[in-house]
Amino acid sequence: MMLKGKPVAEKILKEVKEGVEKLGFAPGLAIVRVGEDPASKVYVGSKIRRAAEAGIKGEEHYLPETATEDDLLELVHKLNIDSSVHGFIVQLPLPAHINAEKVLESIYPEKDVDGLHPQNLGKLVAGAPVFIPATPMGVMELLSYYNVEIMGKNAVVVGRSNMVGKPMGALLLNANATVEICHSRTRDLAEHTKRAEILVVAVGKAKLITEDMVREGAAVIDVGINRVEGKLVGDVDFEKVKEKARVSPVPGGVGLLTVACLMKNVLKAAEKGKS
Ligand code: NAD
Repeated sequence: MMLKGKPVAEKILKEVKEGVEKLGFAPGLAIVRVGEDPASKVYVGSKIRRAAEAGIKGEEHYLPETATEDDLLELVHKLNIDSSVHGFIVQLPLPAHINAEKVLESIYPEKDVDGLHPQNLGKLVAGAPVFIPATPMGVMELLSYYNVEIMGKNAVVVGRSNMVGKPMGALLLNANATVEICHSRTRDLAEHTKRAEILVVAVGKAKLITEDMVREGAAVIDVGINRVEGKLVGDVDFEKVKEKARVSPVPGGVGLLTVACLMKNVLKAAEKGKS
């Protein structure tokens, strides 16, 4: 069975649109993009389009590859104090000469709709989240929509980035799963994944997870995005794994939810800014 993202994303975007109508004004979302990363260009375009559909005013702020860290910090500061911007994100990855950590820390936590400021990540770990990073939030929405029970289950997350793996682990733990987080130094990955009733994979390696590594009947959420011979694929050997488990497809899975959940965070920021 497939855990498709589309119906879930549509439901979320509909709820956001209704929330925006209730608000009575269009929330402002700014997206900062630096340099020429081709995937970032596509992602930013799709975020701005979805924002418009939900009644959110999305605006791209572009800086060239040659921009300095100070140029970017100055732009972040402008957005921090611009009252028409309710939330903003700095699209990652940034060019190598810019310290991403420093930039993320300079965003006002109340406008940090990507949830990557240490204060927001800390609140999530403490079990009192404000802004949850959109991708792991999307995974939780997907699990909930398809009635995948989490409480007491063995959940394995593969990948430990601040954007996906770590917040994913915290969310599953907050939802009372027993959580393991695997990563590049994990010995015998299959030993862990085979025990997972919920398996979330966020690595960026095509076919990392093969059929023999998956437990029968598991829910497998594939966050990975890889380009193989011009085609987008996830981290899971989808065709084979889908015979024994429920799997989210790539494309058509978590990616759609990431964008929808970002809009959810923007609505939240606008609601908070209003009160
Ligand atoms: P990252 O490169 O920051 O982290 C990758 C993680 O994988 C690391 O923690 C590393 O320890 C782990 N890893 C590497 N090799 C491994 C191995 N052989 N076995 C086990 N773990 C291993 O990446 P990220 O930002 O977390 O993104 C992960 C993937 O998810 C990428 O493909 C990215 O494009 C995708 N992604 C998708 C969305 C979406 O909306 N669908 C959003 C964000 C990221």
